[in-house]
Amino acid sequence: MTVRTARVQDLLGLLHGLYPSDLAEEWDTVGLQVGDPSATVERILVALDPGGAAVAAASGQGAQLLVTHHPLLFKPLRRLTPEDPVGRVVWQAVRSGVAIVSAHTNLDVAADGLNDWLAARLELTAAEPLQPTAGHLFKLVVFVPADHVEAVAEALFAAGAGHIGGYDQCSFRTAGVGTFRPGPGTTPFIGEAGRRERVEEIRLETVVPQRRLSRVLEKLIKAHPYEEVAYDLVPLANTLPGTGLGRIGHLAEPVTLTALADRLKVVFDCRTVRLVGASERAVGKVAVCGGSGAGLIREAKRRGADVLVTGDIKYHEARLAEDLGLALLDAGHFATERPAVVELAARLGAEAAARGWRLDILIHDGERDPFLVR
Ligand SMILES: [Zn+2]
Repeated sequence: MTVRTARVQDLLGLLHGLYPSDLAEEWDTVGLQVGDPSATVERILVALDPGGAAVAAASGQGAQLLVTHHPLLFKPLRRLTPEDPVGRVVWQAVRSGVAIVSAHTNLDVAADGLNDWLAARLELTAAEPLQPTAGHLFKLVVFVPADHVEAVAEALFAAGAGHIGGYDQCSFRTAGVGTFRPGPGTTPFIGEAGRRERVEEIRLETVVPQRRLSRVLEKLIKAHPYEEVAYDLVPLANTLPGTGLGRIGHLAEPVTLTALADRLKVVFDCRTVRLVGASERAVGKVAVCGGSGAGLIREAKRRGADVLVTGDIKYHEARLAEDLGLALLDAGHFATERPAVVELAARLGAEAAARGWRLDILIHDGERDPFLVR
């Protein structure tokens, strides 16, 4: 394999291949925050937050790209000056030649993303999404002359259609008769202008994720022999396999709430954990959501969880959980998302090596929880 230098846009392509940007929440701003997509990257620093300290660390360690979980730019800036805290970071990043790229809620919900990593650290078995992601899938139906159906199906599969869970090349085919009459000025593949044709066709059905849609349609038009391709594109309400907010699974053996809290201190490397619920109650079915997962309290209860592990729990949310009979363990926003940095760096390293990129990946080790507990 030839070793080559990657560019910012290569890293963006890699990240969005693993954690598609269309999985991000609508309010979120993932992807390139600051920087030139064509700039070369030989060293990356991975951090949780895109603050001034992270940019300084990236620049000080010779990194051209800072990859963070939290995005830098949420609201439009009206002016770009060093007086504004966000403007100052943009200013600093541009001056020091550091591009900033973020993978936020797309990393949270993706299969093999942050919440799967948390479930793995908690050793949850049969972990699945707590709130599955829906509405990112399309049914594609296309009518193909029988002797061209294999070529068209091949082209669709190669472009990313036909994946259902661990299965690929999924399709359904029904034989029928298509009719058409070529109009004036057409050059039909079958038949002649002005005369109605009847052709043995196959109705070929498959599924396409939203992010592959334009590529699949482009390849369909190329591979299909007809001048005008007849196809239906139908949005599906199906959920995406393995994808969604939070995870829910089982501990190998139920433990007390206090014992699980003690385990969290080790796996999330934090000094304190806040508990809601009776300390001696047994918990076996565990929901987890990194960062701020209080919005999932009702869903965790509905799915039968004994406890929700997350961060950023507020007073009334704790009361709600008490009323519902759901225990909570709050290990903090920082501690439950910091694993993203370590795991993301490892994934980027493996993917870069597989592509033959000359790339160092460093972890920003100067980041600390902003909250101190005395
Ligand atoms: Zn967060």
